[in-house]
Amino acid sequence: MHLNCPECQNEVNLSAYVNLAVGNVIECDVCGITLLVNDIKGETVSAEVVDEGK
Ligand SMILES: [Zn+2]
Repeated sequence: MHLNCPECQNEVNLSAYVNLAVGNVIECDVCGITLLVNDIKGETVSAEVVDEGK
């Protein structure tokens, strides 16, 4: 599966996330932003930036 970070547009390394599912919160290993998985179609994962209010 692959995901392009909506913030930095880099490919996010998903190897640390097994059984990735919609609703999971992951972290972009490039820019460190927190992402919420909102769609998985085949091998393509979509995610949105989570506003942590920091
Ligand atoms: Zn990123």
